[in-house]
Amino acid sequence: MTRPIVATLNGDALRQNVNIMRQAAPQSRVWSVVKANAYGHGLERVWQNLSDTDGFALLNLEEAILLRENGWKKPILLLEGFFSADELAILDRYRLTTSVHSNWQIKVLAEAKLSAPLDIYLKINSGMNRLGFQPEHVHSAWQKLRALPNVGEMTLMTHFAEADREEGVQEPLRRVALASEGIDAPRSFANSAATMWHPQTHHDWVRPGIVLYGASPTGNWQDIAGSGLKPVMTLESEIIGVQTLKAGEGVGYNYRYRTPGELRLGVVACGYADGYPRHAPTGTPVIIDGVRTQTLGTVSMDMLMVDLTPCPNAGIGSRVELWGEGVKIDEVAQSAGTVGYELMCAVTARVPFKVR
Ligand SMILES: *Cc1c(COP(=O)(O)O)cnc(C)c1O
Repeated sequence: MTRPIVATLNGDALRQNVNIMRQAAPQSRVWSVVKANAYGHGLERVWQNLSDTDGFALLNLEEAILLRENGWKKPILLLEGFFSADELAILDRYRLTTSVHSNWQIKVLAEAKLSAPLDIYLKINSGMNRLGFQPEHVHSAWQKLRALPNVGEMTLMTHFAEADREEGVQEPLRRVALASEGIDAPRSFANSAATMWHPQTHHDWVRPGIVLYGASPTGNWQDIAGSGLKPVMTLESEIIGVQTLKAGEGVGYNYRYRTPGELRLGVVACGYADGYPRHAPTGTPVIIDGVRTQTLGTVSMDMLMVDLTPCPNAGIGSRVELWGEGVKIDEVAQSAGTVGYELMCAVTARVPFKVR
């Protein structure tokens, strides 16, 4: 017997989700964002299910090389560009499109010896104040890059800080429009939220990430409920112990939960060392044998406790869905004060993955 926890990935859901993004932005090409090991799903496991995409966007050279060595010939975009001059030889060899967000990168590109020009994405800081050229510096960066023999096709890019809000793209779009006046080039602005809710941002290439994995960019599952997007990852385990308790008993570390009356409690083989959030309080939803119930007390390293009151037939060996199609990862995240993005990236290496 092995420990019963497993993360199952639904390949059909990935294929469906990428096509939903295509339909949402029918005039645009799609970069599928697979950074952070495909948001924790495992790039090697999932990329073929996303191969209807026009390109893959990521940050690590290792991930880009993995795709090329597995035969991916279409574009790959490095969202943060290169981190040092040494990397340009690899960009050249594997034909990677790179974002350019700083002057030092322009200098390095000017001095590099490449076998052929590289396509670049000029990154504009539209107000998030993370990476990118300030609007007033965009024209000079553009001209410097355009003059370099090492630079091929150039695209303008920006990233939104709050595309999940109704008015969230107005001011950034205004800044980008001013910065790029008179520049005739393809544009790529939209993350998942902008692809879903702001068609005026779509332009030539959209860059959805979180929605490909079937979670909401807002953190609230309801916001994508009617979209057809399907959760890709199901994290499940089993009940490995049962306790029948009287009223007033404490449960788990520091007795953070006390039984209000008699209660049947189940012990699940899943804890924070698997990536389940320790901050998830009593009341976080979970499904046992198809019945929705809740966690009780503090999550331990390897186990957590659940209320079996609504599922009297459940016992040792009963199937537990921590998140998936029944309990959405967004619900667990909300309960724990985080977002689905963080939970999917945080599933740990000891959890076995299956693709179906
Ligand atoms: C992560 C990222 C995306 C995708 O964001 P989602 O919210 O997951 O859709 C798009 N563009 C850039 C530059 C990113 O870093």
